[in-house]
Amino acid sequence: MPNEPKSPAGFVAIVGAGPGPADLMTLRALDRLQRAEVVVHDRLISSEVLDLIPATALRVYVGKALGDHAVPQQGIHALLVQHARAGRRVVRLKGGDPYVFGRGGEEVQALQAEGIAFEVVPGVTAASGCSAAAGIPLTHRDFAASCVFLPGHLADDDATHDWRALARPGQTRVFYMGIQRLAQIAERLIAHGLPPETPAAIVRDGTRPTQTVLACSLRRLVERAPAYGPQPGLLIIGETVQLSPDFHAD
Ligand code: SAH
Repeated sequence: MPNEPKSPAGFVAIVGAGPGPADLMTLRALDRLQRAEVVVHDRLISSEVLDLIPATALRVYVGKALGDHAVPQQGIHALLVQHARAGRRVVRLKGGDPYVFGRGGEEVQALQAEGIAFEVVPGVTAASGCSAAAGIPLTHRDFAASCVFLPGHLADDDATHDWRALARPGQTRVFYMGIQRLAQIAERLIAHGLPPETPAAIVRDGTRPTQTVLACSLRRLVERAPAYGPQPGLLIIGETVQLSPDFHAD
């Protein structure tokens, strides 16, 4: 068969699933999911989205079970490459947007290194989802001219972030993976000049039916923040938080 390709050409779509509800996925994401032969996904994907995977597709879970370890990143790369090389249509399904704290960049580098064809399908990142669902604009002409996304779990190390810059007014700070570090984050910002009265919010399970919003001054938030469960949560600090209907001044 002269026209038969020597090796079947697989393809990997790195797809953003958004923050939870299936109707917050893009139409392109839905298309790739419905045509997938293999879906490699992690923990934050909602069951509503997982239900859209065709029954015929192979599902591979690579997330963390509670107290357990996730498949190492190199293992995920190897999986994607292996299935693509076998000629399959692979979807790497990731929470939110693949290029926002999702290690999508590393997966793309691994595919490029192996010469595997791929695309990246953007998704609604947690900051956009939670912002809309909690009534907290990320920017606003009167309050915040800029908005910064940060990985909160790195806040243990004082040198990771430029705290002085982050403490300046006129910006919205969004910490992913940060609610367990709320106390350290607040302490560092306040030490660098952020007023403790600055409005701040924790949005958990943002955009999902189980969403909760706790919004008050940063000082009160540290006192009030309940024990944290496994739900994903976002920490938002800045003046626009006062626009949330859930905001209560002290
Ligand atoms: N790529 C993802 C982020 C992955 S990091 C995105 O673009 O959204 C995982 C962190 O995202 C969680 O620790 C949490 O801080 C945040 N997150 C994801 N989904 C969320 C949701 N529905 N509500 C609140 N925070 C969420």
